[in-house]
Amino acid sequence: MKIYSFKCPACGYESRHTVGTPDMDQILTDVNNEFAQYRLFVCRKELKLVHADVLDAHFDNKCPSDKNELEPIDDLEHVKCPRCDKELKVEDIKPLAATDGSAE
Ligand SMILES: [Zn+2]
Ligand SMILES: [Zn+2]
Repeated sequence: MKIYSFKCPACGYESRHTVGTPDMDQILTDVNNEFAQYRLFVCRKELKLVHADVLDAHFDNKCPSDKNELEPIDDLEHVKCPRCDKELKVEDIKPLAATDGSAE
């Protein structure tokens, strides 16, 4: 599982998302849980990136907050800005280095 930071050099859009499957050594207490697999999507209604657990039985390709149909993103290295369509700068952050963002 990786955390990606997306930044738009053109309009300043900024977002962080978790993508992939949880590492086994990080979920020792949850070994009985079903696997999760997070993927990245675009919500065209809110003009933002969202991530969702595609193995969640409740997930139906709809945005959790507004039920708009989500567009999946397959190429994480080349993500277009949901607001202005410029290519976003992508960085992957090691989960250990990722705080809750309170420093921002
Ligand atoms: Zn932008
Ligand atoms: Zn939405």
